[in-house]
Amino acid sequence: MSTRVAVVTGSNKGIGLAIVQALCKQFQGDVYLTARDVGRGQEAVNSLASDGLKAMFHQLDINDLNSITTAAAFFKDKYGGVDVLINNAGIAFKVADTAPFAVQAEVTLKTNFFATRDMLTHFLPLIKAGGRVVNVSSFVGVRTLNLCSPALQQRFRSEDITEEELVGLMERFVEEAKRGEHKQGGWPDTAYGMSKTGLTTLSMIQARRLSKERPNDGILLNACCPGWVRTDMAGPKAPKSPDEGAITPVYLALLPPGTTEPHGKFVSDKEVQVW
Ligand code: NAP
Repeated sequence: MSTRVAVVTGSNKGIGLAIVQALCKQFQGDVYLTARDVGRGQEAVNSLASDGLKAMFHQLDINDLNSITTAAAFFKDKYGGVDVLINNAGIAFKVADTAPFAVQAEVTLKTNFFATRDMLTHFLPLIKAGGRVVNVSSFVGVRTLNLCSPALQQRFRSEDITEEELVGLMERFVEEAKRGEHKQGGWPDTAYGMSKTGLTTLSMIQARRLSKERPNDGILLNACCPGWVRTDMAGPKAPKSPDEGAITPVYLALLPPGTTEPHGKFVSDKEVQVW
């Protein structure tokens, strides 16, 4: 049997690095720490090595389609696919950032929604039978969903929303934000929140599609919240350590063979949450 492999995006620091660390201890197979910057990635691999943990490295910038396809080809060639994919890479503007909302909407959605979707487009076909896919979303996405207009909420929660419709909605949010019309369009004032509402909805859509198209492959795909975690993104006042933030993503990544649930859910503190 070929070596099993786990891939974590944006894992040179923060929650991603803690996820890699936990997988190095618990996953039977090769664990790939990936980063957009080779120097920062290798430094992180070296810091794990000094703790006796062996992570492998591959460059992966989710905003760069060429980087995504190069990495996908590498994992296909070397491992025949991927067993565990954790889409952790993400960005957030600081609350104090003075960049206009239009810019924040475009830039945040670009990475957290559209680039993560690109990752899924190119990596989902590589996920092996029994594979696990975890999208690191946020509880902020649930709060944001509840602030959308009733019509938008209905679409995000519906069982029949397609990926195309969702992409259209996310594009509409960015366009309306650029015109300063997003509030009239029924959208709340949070770019990060909308990016995570979109990512959780995308996870539910793709899980339904996997169940339909690969019913016998036993792949589980979920979105999750790591909690409020002390990282460069969330700052020093957050209650959870990065190791604690890694617990739910790692739990979903290591759901034992034969498990059928959760799938297509939003999970926090290892519990399925109301969407
Ligand atoms: P972080 O410390 O800022 O780390 C973010 C990671 O993502 C970094 O490694 C960063 O790389 C990487 N990244 C950003 N853009 C990338 C790209 N285009 N391609 C590849 N990697 C990229 O943040 P964190 O708190 O660990 O967040 C990790 C995930 O958890 C994010 O999706 C975040 O939204 C989510 N989350 C965090 C919290 C929290 O309280 N911290 C709560 C809920 C959800 P560089 O070092 O190169 O910038």
